[in-house]
Amino acid sequence: MTGTAPAPFTADDYRARRDRAARAAADAGLAGLLVAPGPDLVWLTGYAPTAETERLTLLVLVPGQDPVLVVPALEAPDAAKAVGVPGLALRDWTDGKDPYAATAALLDASGRFGISDNAWALHLLALQKALPGTSYASLTDALPMLRAVKDTAELELLAAAGAAADATFEEIRKVPFGGRRESEVAADLAHLLRRFGHSQVDFTIVASGPNGANPHHEVGDRVIERGDMVVLDFGGLKDGYGSDTSRTVHVGEPTDEERRVHDLVRQAQEAGYRAVRPGVACQEVDRAARAVIADAGYGEYFIHRTGHGIGVTTHEPPYMIEGEEQPLVPGMCFSVEPGVYLPGRFGVRIEDIVTVTEDGGRRLNDTTREMVIVD
Ligand code: ZN
Ligand code: ZN
Ligand code: ZN
Repeated sequence: MTGTAPAPFTADDYRARRDRAARAAADAGLAGLLVAPGPDLVWLTGYAPTAETERLTLLVLVPGQDPVLVVPALEAPDAAKAVGVPGLALRDWTDGKDPYAATAALLDASGRFGISDNAWALHLLALQKALPGTSYASLTDALPMLRAVKDTAELELLAAAGAAADATFEEIRKVPFGGRRESEVAADLAHLLRRFGHSQVDFTIVASGPNGANPHHEVGDRVIERGDMVVLDFGGLKDGYGSDTSRTVHVGEPTDEERRVHDLVRQAQEAGYRAVRPGVACQEVDRAARAVIADAGYGEYFIHRTGHGIGVTTHEPPYMIEGEEQPLVPGMCFSVEPGVYLPGRFGVRIEDIVTVTEDGGRRLNDTTREMVIVD
């Protein structure tokens, strides 16, 4: 998160989010939330300190109490500037003092707390030692939907990130593929994402030919050949909000089978998108996309969930997966990205970010989903 530009939200916006988080914590039976540097802290305060330090920085959010940001004294001026202070007290601690005793004084000694997934074990172990009667749950387990419903300003930022990813695709389809290494095309993708306003590139997958059959393949030195299908999947953060899109292109003329499989994935993606509307369970989006692929006899080759949420990170709840009964709510934002992976041969994935509207879904990516032929 370090180095990303803070999103243009006001101190009141952050206060409203903290109030909502404190209410959600109380509803979940938690005595409070302990938020370490990372996406949750950015979302709740606008503050993005380095997470690469052993010095404790922790937002303590206890229902019914004013929130407190515990910070190392040397970072307190930066923190004060970032959070704009109203509605948030800073408590700084100096080297040599015990920050855990100061934190423990803010907490119910027998409470159960939600703590950031990425909090250091060092800090959690010290808190447990200071307050042996407390217990903890991962924040994502306890409150998976905390950041899931985006407000209007967040949706605008996600749409702008999506548009930048789309602009990237419109440029990458013009570059030569055949005869170049995957890593070279990936470097082009990263360069374009930054050119179109991304401050952080999270992934630039270029999976050619048989590599495309491995959804986890990132990028390698394989030289792309004429006749290859190439899965492109790229994204990152622009103004603090994420993009993530996939298109599968072909170098030169495809075979009939390649066309058929690509069209199947396109139809599955369309079916998943059309299933999006308020009140529908997340798993229904997965089922709608999966049914198209299964009905065509390719069910065993669609080997991952259909989608994941996106916001201040590029992968977060809600997940579009069998068993996830969370109903969709207007403002949720997530990927719809079915794929077919034929081992040793090729893969196809098509991915758009979709947001839930009052009566359906709206795509935040809108480049062609037909197969694009590249050189
Ligand atoms: Zn081919
Ligand atoms: Zn992706
Ligand atoms: Zn994705």
